[in-house]
Formats: sequence, C-alpha cells, structure tokens
Amino acid sequence: MSSMSFLELPEIINDSRQIIHVDMDAFYASVEEREHPQYRQKALVIAPDPRQHNGHGVITTANYRARQYGVGSAMPAIKAVELIPFSELLFTSPNFTLYRQVSNQIHQIFTQVTDTWEPVALDEAYLDVTANKLHLNDPIQIALIIQRTIKRHLHLTCSVGISYNKFLAKMASDYAKPFGRTVVTSAQARNFLAPLPISKFHGIGHATQEKLNRLGLQIGQDLQQTSFDFLTRKFGKTGFMIYQRARGIDNEPVKAQRQSKSIGREQTFNRPVFNDQQTQKIFQKMAQQVAKNLQQKHLIGQTVVIKVRTVEFVTYTRRRTLAQATSDADVIFQTSQELFALLNLQTQPLRLIGVTMTNLREQSFEEIELF
Ligand SMILES: [Mg+2]
Repeated sequence: MSSMSFLELPEIINDSRQIIHVDMDAFYASVEEREHPQYRQKALVIAPDPRQHNGHGVITTANYRARQYGVGSAMPAIKAVELIPFSELLFTSPNFTLYRQVSNQIHQIFTQVTDTWEPVALDEAYLDVTANKLHLNDPIQIALIIQRTIKRHLHLTCSVGISYNKFLAKMASDYAKPFGRTVVTSAQARNFLAPLPISKFHGIGHATQEKLNRLGLQIGQDLQQTSFDFLTRKFGKTGFMIYQRARGIDNEPVKAQRQSKSIGREQTFNRPVFNDQQTQKIFQKMAQQVAKNLQQKHLIGQTVVIKVRTVEFVTYTRRRTLAQATSDADVIFQTSQELFALLNLQTQPLRLIGVTMTNLREQSFEEIELF
C-alpha cells in the first residue's frame, strides 16, 4: 500500500496510443554475420582486437554466441580475450558506414508504416502507429509485419515491444530477445513491471538506481508501493518520473522525423552565364547533383522546379509535375530543359540557375534496390 501523503497524484493512464519499439538484435554483429557468413561459427566481438592495441578498446556489440560467455556491449575488449576460448574468438572493427546504410534501409520500412517514428540509435526506434499508413488497427499485426519485412528484405532480426507508451514499449522489446514480440496493455502494466529489477527500468540512471537500492527498493513492486511524496522528496523531479514509470505512465510523444520538403541546387554566378550551351551544362550538372542527393536519401520527387535570374535581376521560376516520381538525373535534366525553353531566355545572360525537386516521397519497396 502506498502511504497517504499530502499530495497523491491521480494515476491516470492514457492508453489511447499504440507505440511500437523496434530493437535490432545484436545489430552490428548481425550485420557483420550477414556480410560474412563464416563469422556465424565464431564468438564475434565488434571491437578492434585489443591484442593489437596494447589491451585497449571497448566492445560495441557481441553476437549471441559471444554473449553466452558473458561478453557484452560497453565491456573492455580485453575481457573477451579472458572469457572466450581462443579458437572461437573473433574481433572485427566496427564498420559504421555499413551500419548506417542498413539503418537507413530499416528507416525506409518504418516510413512505409508511419511518418511518426523516432530513431533512438542506429538500431532502435519508436513508432507511433495509432494512425498508420497500413490502415490496420492491431499494433501486434503491424509489429509482425515490420519484423517479417526486415527479416525478408534485410535478413536481420529485431525484437519489438508493443504498448501504449514509449517507456513500456521499450521495456517490452527488451523482454524477449532475439526475434521476440512482447505486448504490454494498460491492464498488464503494473504486473509486468512489478518483478523487474530497477536496473532494467529505462530512464533511471545508474546513480539513481543505486540510491534507490540503498533505500531498500530493488524491483518495480517496491517502487509501486512507494509514495509520490517520498520519491519526490528524495529525488525531486526524477522522483516524479520514477513514480509515474513504476505505474506504467509515460506521456512522452514519439517525435517524428522532419522530412525534407524539397531537394535542390542553385548557384549564383559572378560572371553571368551567356550561351545556351553553358547553361545546358549547368542544368545537367545540377540535375545530376539533385538526383544523387535524392538517391542517397531514398527519396523520389514528382515535381521539377527551375529558377533563373537575369542580369536585370528578374527572377523566373517554372515547375512541372511528372506522371511518375523519379530520382533519375536524365529525367530531371530533360524536364528542366523543357521548362527553360518555355521562358525564351536562351539568349539572355543569367545570374542564377537553380534546379529543385519537390513533391517528395520515400521510395517504396519495389523501388528500393536491395543488394
Ligand atoms: Mg539492439
């Protein structure tokens, strides 16, 4: 029973949202195993080999085989040398360029589900699927689709937590790994949290956790039986957060990614561009740059906009919406040429030229080039 206190907060649980937390399983290690199938027979540790670096280095990730020896993230790499038999141990330095690339591909999958998703790290994200692009009401079904899609297209597994807030979704994804799926409803929240050690509570830092332990509080249930007064007296604002979390309350929104509305290039010329051939070359270069930028972001655009400014400082813009969205440099260039021709400025010296693609959207699966 929580002790009576001067101010007992009403424990109002807002369970109107549907939040999924996606956590890739041993992400860096799994990507390396995918790229190098022979690594699967090894206890793989993602870190520079400490035997070649005077014993220095920290483990980024370990595969599940290495974890069986008690090796894990954030440990000194030399620990792996101590714990893992020589014949099984394999170190490999992290390849963040590759991990970021794969992470982008995962993000594209999220964007197919909802625009309201928030990355936490390369391998973790929250999705608010209350309203979603799949028009599905069941978040469990959505989570399953995400897991299967990532597996099928990227050959990687993830674990998902499904709940009505970020905190519980995160706690849930951690509950069954790898390739797990855990649901926590508002009716289950307290019971789900009750037996968990405070060290597992996301958002409670190490120092706070130790202080809670010293106060005799070890598990979720202990926190649930502690009053608001006590917690705020001992921990201030953090105490309020702990009080709420222990009762399955977290109203933090999923912060959606800002999408670029357009991608473009423009250039001002100190020496005006005189002839049509030169102008064409500039348009072509810009179209190529815009196309490259779109492709890097896995976007396609449907509207081409050009902008030109004459030496008299008169600015013209022209736009055309294509039948099909594209990130093809030739299409962008051709369209910009046609738009430019409409202006009848071929003989005019120009001070500025710009090419922009708007009306952007993510490439869909069929359009994504998967290795
Ligand atoms: Mg992970």
